[in-house]
Amino acid sequence: MNEFSLIERYFTHLTPKRPDVLLGIGDDAASLFVPSDMQLLVSTDTLVAGVHFLSEWEPYDIAYRAVMVNVSDIAAMGASPCWVLLALTIPDCNEVWLKKFAEGFQKACQQFNLALVGGDTTKGPLSMTLTIHGLAKQPICRSGAQVGDVIYVSGELGAAALGVSLLNSIEVDDADRCVMMSKLLHPSPRTDLGELLQAYATSAIDISDGLSADLNHICVKSSVGATVELDAVPVHRLVNKYQGVNAIEFAMKGGDDYELCFTIPAHDEPQFLLDLALKRLKCYRIGKITASGVLSARRMDGVEMPLKAEGYSHF
Ligand code: ADP
Ligand code: MG
Repeated sequence: MNEFSLIERYFTHLTPKRPDVLLGIGDDAASLFVPSDMQLLVSTDTLVAGVHFLSEWEPYDIAYRAVMVNVSDIAAMGASPCWVLLALTIPDCNEVWLKKFAEGFQKACQQFNLALVGGDTTKGPLSMTLTIHGLAKQPICRSGAQVGDVIYVSGELGAAALGVSLLNSIEVDDADRCVMMSKLLHPSPRTDLGELLQAYATSAIDISDGLSADLNHICVKSSVGATVELDAVPVHRLVNKYQGVNAIEFAMKGGDDYELCFTIPAHDEPQFLLDLALKRLKCYRIGKITASGVLSARRMDGVEMPLKAEGYSHF
């Protein structure tokens, strides 16, 4: 099979058809309709075998997760995902692998009415770069946090990182491993919070590198500090089970959950909580934005200490 029949067989008709795709796969460039009252958000992420995923993983999971981590970046801007490009590098034309990869890609895109509108297919060590496009009236940036804002996270933290750390451990209950691996391989980007972010958030980020590292990005960009109430951080029950006294630290450092961290003005909090309940969603208030310029953590006994912005970094 050559490159063109491969694209035609596995990718051309893979994802939902959208009326705003004026030209999709098959030309030199895609042409996309952007409504005049919307901003176009663009983001790209590369996933390399051996770094971001293992080549032994199910191709379905590799593709599914690749879409989800890209959707998460759009969700973190309070935007809705619309279009994606896939630059795929594969070592050979393994049709069994490609079929499963395409299935995972399709399943993930369907959930967001996300259309695959182009890409590139090359031969080489397994890796992929996705470029995702989303639309928002007004994107929520990392730089908007204000002193006095309250800090929220959208879900429990640490289970995906636990899956990574216990990948080869034999001392893990099978049912627990299943939960961790599902958090790691099938993250659910929080596009469901888009409207609430649009209405209330002053800043937002997706937690891909770990809460402390990502909250630090908000602080640096916004020129503010933050105090996190350690007992308010939602730690996944399995992190408590397997990390014991280190659970909180583990949950705050661990990336890969793709929950959101965002700030809202304190005076908007009551209305925000009403709207959140109306949507049957749950978020956790974990602290406050301060004027200190640094990150700190307050223990249950009231003692405050500096919080290191630790998380994953490639270099
Ligand atoms: P060109 O030579 O102009 O770069 P290609 O031969 O690389 O074009 O690609 C042909 C068409 O197929 C283009 O529209 C391109 O966007 C699309 N395409 C190539 N690879 C993929 C892929 N992996 N997924 C989706 N679309 C792809
Ligand atoms: Mg090309």
